[in-house]
Amino acid sequence: MSVIEIKDLVKRFKELVAVDHLNLEVKEGEIFGLLGPNGSGKSTTINCLLSLLNYEKGEVKIFNKPMNQNAYDIKKDIGVVFQEVAVFQELNVRENIDCFCSLYVSDKNERKLLVDEVIDFVGLKDHEKFKPKKLSGGLLRRLNIACGIAHKPKLIILDEPTVAVDPQSRNKILEGIMRLRDNGATVLYTSHYMEEVEQICDRVAIMDAGKIVAQGNLVELKNIIGIGQKIVVELESKSQEFIEKVSKLSFCLDVKEHDNIITISANKEDNVLERVLDLLKAIDVKANKIYSEMPSLNDVFLEITGKELRD
Ligand code: ADP
Ligand code: MG
Repeated sequence: MSVIEIKDLVKRFKELVAVDHLNLEVKEGEIFGLLGPNGSGKSTTINCLLSLLNYEKGEVKIFNKPMNQNAYDIKKDIGVVFQEVAVFQELNVRENIDCFCSLYVSDKNERKLLVDEVIDFVGLKDHEKFKPKKLSGGLLRRLNIACGIAHKPKLIILDEPTVAVDPQSRNKILEGIMRLRDNGATVLYTSHYMEEVEQICDRVAIMDAGKIVAQGNLVELKNIIGIGQKIVVELESKSQEFIEKVSKLSFCLDVKEHDNIITISANKEDNVLERVLDLLKAIDVKANKIYSEMPSLNDVFLEITGKELRD
């Protein structure tokens, strides 16, 4: 079953087309990643799909029902964590979560259980009496997330929840997102960090300049491009001969040199690693290390758009 279905969405800000004929489907029980550089239109897409912004064109269905501003029966089952942290400065951690949860759950006792559970879930037990300004960036993000998910929504939308957080909180957040999925929620998650998306997403849409340029699971996305693998060779010392000769091998798409480390993008031919080893032997060049890597989402992005996704 599809939980979110967006058809032909167009959103303009004056001349700027922020979302350009976008089609997207998020299926029940998956973590769907919307990956794209800053300004590619991820947040605008989310605001449109939630009917928080008017749009020029397109259709949005959530839980198989048409979404609109007044669709409260749909909204009650959605938890949203916006990119900008939005909590009440006068309330402490527990009071903040309770306040957001009370928008959905009126029974006090039921709410107490939910608030306890979510405080545990995001790891803020030792901070429940803290006001937001006493929290580090990472803990504040975790509070923001707790406020969005305390009512146990079926669909959780997280917009760049790991920007500007410390590695410990980042791991906690990513691991938490996977646990939400494992507990049955559907997650739409945006990021411009491809490593995170590779780590946790079941399916991914790659976005650039308002358009989805590729969509699928990681294997499907990596199959779109010509690179089959990358061979990294750490040479004992620089060798121009190795670079020249390896560039001429039939599988070689690209060679990059960084000090003594040579990275070879190879197509999908067989025995690539062996052929690199054979070459090293034939020209008597020594390598300290040689290994093969799968192409990354950055390679997919680079091949499709001609630009690097990395910051
Ligand atoms: P992302 O979330 O991927 O970083 P956004 O959806 O925030 O991208 O922005 C997409 C494009 O739309 C950007 O060029 C941004 O400057 C522009 N934009 C976003 N919101 C507005 C707005 N309220 N008014 C005008 N332009 C906007
Ligand atoms: Mg954004």
